[in-house]
Amino acid sequence: MGPSDNPHPGLLLIISGPSGVGKTTITHRVRQRLGAVFSVSLTTRPMTGEDTDGIDYHFVDEARFKVQRDAGYLLEWAKVFGNYYGTPRRPVEDNLAQGKLVILEIDVEGAIQIKKNMPESFALFVEPPNEEALLHRLRRRQREDEQTIRGRFARAKHEITRARECGVYDAFIVNDDLDHAIDQAVQAIADELAQRRNSPAQQV
Ligand code: 5GP
Repeated sequence: MGPSDNPHPGLLLIISGPSGVGKTTITHRVRQRLGAVFSVSLTTRPMTGEDTDGIDYHFVDEARFKVQRDAGYLLEWAKVFGNYYGTPRRPVEDNLAQGKLVILEIDVEGAIQIKKNMPESFALFVEPPNEEALLHRLRRRQREDEQTIRGRFARAKHEITRARECGVYDAFIVNDDLDHAIDQAVQAIADELAQRRNSPAQQV
C-alpha cells in the first residue's frame, strides 16, 4: 500500500529554494516547531565541515547511488551542481503511514517528480526578497570563490523562474526577515492541515 491509499495519511511537505536563501534554517525551525520528521537524502557530493553523515545527508559514492536509484529505492532524484541527490522512499512512506509530517528539502526538479506521483503533497518555495539580496547572501557565506558564487547565482535565478512557471508550488515565502518567514511557513502548513481535516472529501 502506498501513502496515497492510506485513509489517514500524514502530510508530505516539500521545501525548495535557491542556495543562499536561508531554506535550511527555515526547514530546521519549521521541523522543530511542528514536530516534523526530516527526510535524510542520499548525495554523492563531498561532505563539508558543516555536514554530519546520516543527519544532514547519507553520503555515498556514485556507484552506490545508482544501485539504490535503479532498484527503485528513491522516491525522486536529481543531479544538482554535478552531484546526485535523492530521497529514500522507505522512511518517507513509513512515516507518512504513521500520520507524521515529513519534510523533503529538495530542488525544483525533485519537487516536480514528487507532485506528479504524490499530488497530495504540499510544496513551499522560499524566495529571496530580490536578486541583490541573494547575491549578497551567497557572498556573505564565504564558502566559495567568486566564480562558484556566480554559478550558484545564475542557477538560483533560473530555479526561481522555473518554480514560478512549473505550477507545483502551493505557496511562495519571501525570506526578508527570518522569523517572519518561519512564521509564514508554519502558518501555511497549519492552514493546510486544518483545511484537510475539515474536508474529508480530500482524503478519499
Ligand atoms: P546542498 O548540497 O547545498 O545541501 O544542496 C544542493 C541542492 O540540492 C539544494 O537545492 C537542495 O534542496 C537539493 N537537494 C538536497 N537533497 C535533495 C534530494 O534528495 N533530491 C533533490 N531533488 N534535491 C535535493
